[in-house]
Amino acid sequence: MPQGVVTVAYIGATILFILALGGLSHPETARRGNLYGMTGMGIALIATIFGVVTDNYTLLILALVIGGTIGLVLAKRVQMTQMPELVAILHSLVGLAAVFVGFATFSDPDMDFVGVEQTIHDIEIYVGILIGAITFSGSVIAFGKLSGKIGGNPLILPARHWLNLSLLLITIWVGSAFVGQSADGGGTFPLLVMTLIALAFGVHMVMAIGGADMPVVVSMLNSYSGWAASATGFMLSNDLLIVTGALVGSSGAILSYIMCRAMNRKFLAVIAGGFGTTSGSSSAASGEDQGEVVPIDTTETAELLKNAKEVMIIPGYGMAVAQAQHIVHEITRKLRDNDINVRFGIHPVAGRMPGHMNVLLAEAKLPYDIVFEMDEINDDFPNIDVSVIIGANDIVNPSALTDPDSPIAGMPVLECWKGDTTIVLKRSMATGYAGVQNPLFFLDNTRMLFGDARESLDKVLADL
Ligand code: NDP
Repeated sequence: MPQGVVTVAYIGATILFILALGGLSHPETARRGNLYGMTGMGIALIATIFGVVTDNYTLLILALVIGGTIGLVLAKRVQMTQMPELVAILHSLVGLAAVFVGFATFSDPDMDFVGVEQTIHDIEIYVGILIGAITFSGSVIAFGKLSGKIGGNPLILPARHWLNLSLLLITIWVGSAFVGQSADGGGTFPLLVMTLIALAFGVHMVMAIGGADMPVVVSMLNSYSGWAASATGFMLSNDLLIVTGALVGSSGAILSYIMCRAMNRKFLAVIAGGFGTTSGSSSAASGEDQGEVVPIDTTETAELLKNAKEVMIIPGYGMAVAQAQHIVHEITRKLRDNDINVRFGIHPVAGRMPGHMNVLLAEAKLPYDIVFEMDEINDDFPNIDVSVIIGANDIVNPSALTDPDSPIAGMPVLECWKGDTTIVLKRSMATGYAGVQNPLFFLDNTRMLFGDARESLDKVLADL
């Protein structure tokens, strides 16, 4: 394929990626956004395969078939609740690719630069491998934490800030020893040392982050994977990879900022770790019971809903586990047919990935105009007759506002307890992701509807 055609295809793909990001910013246009993204990636792949990468098509097609098959099988098999883990492990592959490309480019005898060009090329390789290695090991730990294979409690090493600072200084020092050295002239050793330091830093950074702050880490690693791809683009002199990586990197950084704001956290403080630490002095944190809870059955729940005028539904991770979104839509339709105003309140960190609840509700084809973000509806709770909490816990925990010792202290939550009655659907008194007990369950105006959310809601619908 002539170079001119490749360039035009790359520009077309870049425009489609930008349109995709624009589309993904709203549920109504998200489907279209995905289509733009897929088309852009299709064009980018074709232009790269036929115009840029190699003459060895047998090897290339073999790699594409193996990679494509693994991707297809994983995507088909993955449960909706496992999506965050899948995203984390895919981020790790982007990081690993950047590391491999970095070492390959460094060892490539054809890459023969002199003077300033050589220095720039060396810095590209060094920074590319650095970001790639941090992204790789950080994402592997994030995968472990999200899938429950590694505990959610933060690992707080003594003098961890000094440790991080020392690692940074050593990295810069090793970098100065690396720049200007060739592969056979002693450059490989500093590169290997830096890679090991970066891997250790990635592990330490994510291990130090407590359960409730994981959303920031997920979006931050998303951003890192973009910068790693961009760095790969610099090493391979591929403009499209540079631009695409920068788009992912910057949109991920914006998402991290939004997540931090939603959780009332300072970005640097989260990265430095130590948030989400259980202090132990708080009864909410230690998981102690805080009195009696009042159970309710499905018939009483249906009765309360029938007599309400204003209903607020707050979905959380448990709705994803129970796959209750379709039955939630049925109930919503039934109530709205009876002139009951039903709205949804969505917390920015509900579920296990940014936008998790919106995806589920969109899948169940709920009308978008009754779905509100936390900031839009949090002041309305005093006018709500019944709030229905479906498998949510941390995002409706009042101790975030009242208990400064709580690991989730300072995080804004949906203040459902200000309404008349709150009905909480969950299976037991178990804590949520942050591992803290929830005083909401023990309030006078709270009723607990125990059981799997889907089974309970099936019965509520029948009773309605
Ligand atoms: P939580 O994890 O706080 O609570 C979920 C609740 O759902 C649990 O208490 C559980 O109780 C209940 N549940 C689980 N399965 C079912 C079921 N089948 N039927 C009924 N209930 C069920 O979820 P939230 O959405 O409230 O909060 C999200 C948490 O995840 C926050 O701490 C957030 O920081 C964190 N997080 C969010 C990410 C994001 O990007 N959104 C990423 C990583 C972490 P029980 O077992 O008793 O049923």
